[in-house]
Amino acid sequence: MADELVHSHDPNHPANLICELCKIFYNNGWVTGTGGGISVKDGDKIYLAPSGVQKERMVPENMFVMDHPSKEYLRRPEVYKPSACTPLFMAAYDIRGAGACIHTHSQNAVMVSLLYDKEFTIANIEQIKALPRVTEPGYLGFFDTLTIPIIENTAHEEDLKDSLEQAILAYPGTTAVLVRRHGIYVWGESVWKAKVYNEAIDYLLELAVKMRQFGIAPDGAIGSEREQRRL
Ligand SMILES: [Zn+2]
Repeated sequence: MADELVHSHDPNHPANLICELCKIFYNNGWVTGTGGGISVKDGDKIYLAPSGVQKERMVPENMFVMDHPSKEYLRRPEVYKPSACTPLFMAAYDIRGAGACIHTHSQNAVMVSLLYDKEFTIANIEQIKALPRVTEPGYLGFFDTLTIPIIENTAHEEDLKDSLEQAILAYPGTTAVLVRRHGIYVWGESVWKAKVYNEAIDYLLELAVKMRQFGIAPDGAIGSEREQRRL
């Protein structure tokens, strides 16, 4: 069962990293009840957490390993099913050349998807500076607006593939896509970038929900907030 692909004492081996990150994400409430998923690319190998396994109990032996770009499984544990997120992660790898992709069922993502229509926007918040410009080198500035597209959910996760791909192509500057009443997909050049982007975006989503509770527009101009407050 090609166990040498997942057995390593190196804490930075993708199979070990996925387990470590799943515990962190579980403790943040992002992947409870086996929801969500994560995948890491290492050269021509893509590591994928399986479907239906409790994220906080994930072990390296659970991992699927796929060759890229052939998409043939190099390791496929028979007791598990591949994650339903797999075709969606492939969209980030194929279209954007991502190094890792994270999917969470964060309540902040779900709330924002209920408060916004086609896209989420937020501006003039320091945390935006953690996010990349994507279409050019460097990161967004304090005065920039972060925009994340929102796609509609489907009955089966894998059926999101077409609309996710369309959103990735329609928003060349985004590093994430929100799924209404479901969660969010975030990717990055490396596993650590994807982790930081996911954390920064979730912070901004949570902040936007709170701002709207106080009648403050998250994408409003500086100085306009005070007028919009209903205190
Ligand atoms: Zn999901």
